[in-house]
Amino acid sequence: MGKTDVASMDLAELQVFFDTLGEPKFRAKQLFEWLHQKQVDTFAKMTNLPQKLREKLEEEATIGGVQMVEKLVSRVDGTRKYLFALENGSVIESVLMQYDYGNTVCVSTQAGCRMGCQFCASTLDGVERSLTAGEMLAQVYTIQKDLGQRISGVVLMGSGEPLDNYDAVLRFIRLLNDANGQNMGQRHMTLSTCGLIAQIYRLAKEQLQITLAVSLHAPNDEIRRQIMPVARANPMEELLQACVDYAAQTKRRITYEYAMMHGINDSDDCARELAKRLRHTLCHVNLIPMNPVKERAYTKSSDQRVQRFAHLLQQDGVETTIRRRLGSDIDAACGQLRRRYMQK
Ligand code: SAH
Repeated sequence: MGKTDVASMDLAELQVFFDTLGEPKFRAKQLFEWLHQKQVDTFAKMTNLPQKLREKLEEEATIGGVQMVEKLVSRVDGTRKYLFALENGSVIESVLMQYDYGNTVCVSTQAGCRMGCQFCASTLDGVERSLTAGEMLAQVYTIQKDLGQRISGVVLMGSGEPLDNYDAVLRFIRLLNDANGQNMGQRHMTLSTCGLIAQIYRLAKEQLQITLAVSLHAPNDEIRRQIMPVARANPMEELLQACVDYAAQTKRRITYEYAMMHGINDSDDCARELAKRLRHTLCHVNLIPMNPVKERAYTKSSDQRVQRFAHLLQQDGVETTIRRRLGSDIDAACGQLRRRYMQK
């Protein structure tokens, strides 16, 4: 039997675990606070636990986490890109973005991805494995420590499909939100999905206050299927219906992400068709200037095209914003730091 990963357990589970160790319940709360409030990464540092107990924990348990391999800091706006190694040697990327309203971390949920989007670097070699909740938390905690400032928000927009790692992601959200830990408000968390319909219905029932972002990237199935294989099993009409249902159940506005690709999905007709489908729903469109990926054929739309597209959507009553580009000098488009490292 392997060791128990305490970094991914909630307080109730830790209490059961401590019970099996023959330890009193209050020790579980102490451990939880060391892990999620003081955020230490070894049992040795947990100074209010008796030496004997610390030794027992060394034998029976482990603290699943990440190791920093590389860090790039933007001189333009302070954005930081981190390359982290997991226990099995896989590597993942996380990004720190500094906004006026606080520090946000872009978290990876899997090493690689199996969704196959044609414009994305993370999916080129498929998925190596899904991350544990503890490994997702460690991305936030490690960056918080490195920065020396509080991380107040997360976006699940690193490598991986969060809803393809459903249980661990839900665990991550609840642990990050825990008042005895980081205590991050759910409204400061965004989960981005390529649009897995069944899991969106499941998520709607979880009673969360997080923002759901859906990677739409096309106004219809014809275009969407060209660039996102997942669109075949998840038709747009049904996907949008699931989103309407999600918004109704949670009273939370859906964000639709739309990466603008030259000549693929950026025409005036595309904007009008998209507006027609989204008008009158509780949503917001975020246009993303596409990040060129060298292994991929797609190029980004011009700034004027993005502006025009936004204008058309707004004119038709769909609230639209254009995502600001951060860290332009450390660009190495999403997922490419990891790839460069893997090919060494
Ligand atoms: N798997 C999830 C979350 C990870 S990707 C999802 O698909 O939503 C986060 C966002 O970046 C998604 O909207 C994704 O489509 C987008 N993205 C991927 N590659 C991109 C690229 N080269 N340029 C711009 N956006 C990209």
